[in-house]
Amino acid sequence: MRERGLLIVLSGPSGVGKGTVRKELFSQNDTKFEYSISMTTRLPRAGEVDGVDYFFKTREEFEQLISEDKLLEWAEFVGNYYGTPVDYVEKTLSEGKDVFLEIEVQGAMQVRKKFPDGLFIFLAPPSLSELKNRIVTRGTETEDIIEGRMKVAKEEIIMMSAYDYVVENDSVTLACERINAIVLAEHCRRERV
Ligand code: 5GP
Repeated sequence: MRERGLLIVLSGPSGVGKGTVRKELFSQNDTKFEYSISMTTRLPRAGEVDGVDYFFKTREEFEQLISEDKLLEWAEFVGNYYGTPVDYVEKTLSEGKDVFLEIEVQGAMQVRKKFPDGLFIFLAPPSLSELKNRIVTRGTETEDIIEGRMKVAKEEIIMMSAYDYVVENDSVTLACERINAIVLAEHCRRERV
């Protein structure tokens, strides 16, 4: 019988659709993972709610969290800080529940060092041009930011080999099916007696 939950990390380049895949996974009734809401200094986009999409923080507040060691990982991504609250993750795992993080690549690599037993899944775009197309279509970023995100995306794609699994996001439904199958298989593998 499992005592500690599984830490599931979904990562990949910005714009690949991590947020969409995560929301679809969590809208499914049988999803048993607990989503860890991140902290960020980015301004809320239209429709985003504090405490639901992110905990929105000032740079000063975020730097305070870093100095107090309250973050499992954190990264500066295209001018803003993003990080995972450590207390929530530890508490939820110790209750035997699986915790799901949706984070960028630098942060995922920090988590890998602290949780070598975590399950690391890289969400990959069908192609780089499709990735750019998705960021542009989202319409939430200026041209400079899009260029910045594409530059980071190319560096992030190189890191794919450091993950346990690569899931192509050619369709949100298929990507979710693949992630659910991977998590189920991981549980069966780890809980063998
Ligand atoms: P966005 O601004 O589009 O919401 O997020 C930008 C990037 O930051 C995305 O790749 C997203 O997955 C990532 N991100 C969100 N939360 C965290 C976090 O807590 N830590 C890290 N390292 N990245 C995060």
